[in-house]
Amino acid sequence: MSFKVTVLGSSGGYAGAGRACSGFLLERDGDSLVLDLGSGALSHLLEYREPDDIGGVALTHMHYDHYVDMHGLCTARRFWPTGLPPLPVLAPPGAGDVLTAALQESSREAFLELIDLRVASPGVEIDLAGFAITPFAAKHVMDSLAYRVGDGERTLFYTGDTEWSDELLEGARDVDMLICEATFTSQVPGKAPGHLSARDAGRLAAEAGVGRLVITHVWPTLDGKRAVEDARGQFEGPIDLALEDMVLFVGPYPCAT
Ligand SMILES: [Zn+2]
Repeated sequence: MSFKVTVLGSSGGYAGAGRACSGFLLERDGDSLVLDLGSGALSHLLEYREPDDIGGVALTHMHYDHYVDMHGLCTARRFWPTGLPPLPVLAPPGAGDVLTAALQESSREAFLELIDLRVASPGVEIDLAGFAITPFAAKHVMDSLAYRVGDGERTLFYTGDTEWSDELLEGARDVDMLICEATFTSQVPGKAPGHLSARDAGRLAAEAGVGRLVITHVWPTLDGKRAVEDARGQFEGPIDLALEDMVLFVGPYPCAT
């Protein structure tokens, strides 16, 4: 068995021209789970799933390039003709405050009734939308998580935004697919704290022994091909550069979805 991954957004920091910020749709046997929903990602999600046909969302952290389209998704669900139950959302502590911060006080309670917010804790596995998710502490400039996601057979690890850490290596160990942020390439001499370079992504893939590396979150002004080349210097396995609407399979192709 396999599960399908569709890239909803791959742009780091802000949505570059014609691009969207972080988002990935995982599908298997009718189940659907969204990892992050940054600016522009909802537009791509709705190409594949109706608002009433989404099993859950897991947010890695509360920077707008990873969550802000939750507002649009919740608006779509709120006014859906049939009325919908709260959408299960897994997120770091404090997510409810961030999600409602831009709303008028009178709207906050109504917004929170649209979601079933579950607080993610590192090491505590949770079943969400047909997938088993284990959060790992990420090393970003705020509370942030990386997620190891499995369907009982295949595993994926999504870093969200993070620096290098031992937890990252542990979480990515032996997964079939590593979706790794690579905000910076060798085009720039250094990098901002809280992020990885493409070279780091390749090194993580190699040290963790993953089956396949997918590079995402490259800064929009930097070159994705260079990111792949940087990673290639570290990792000999298959490498893909995430691009909007790209479809990948965790496990053999074709699969049932
Ligand atoms: Zn980001």
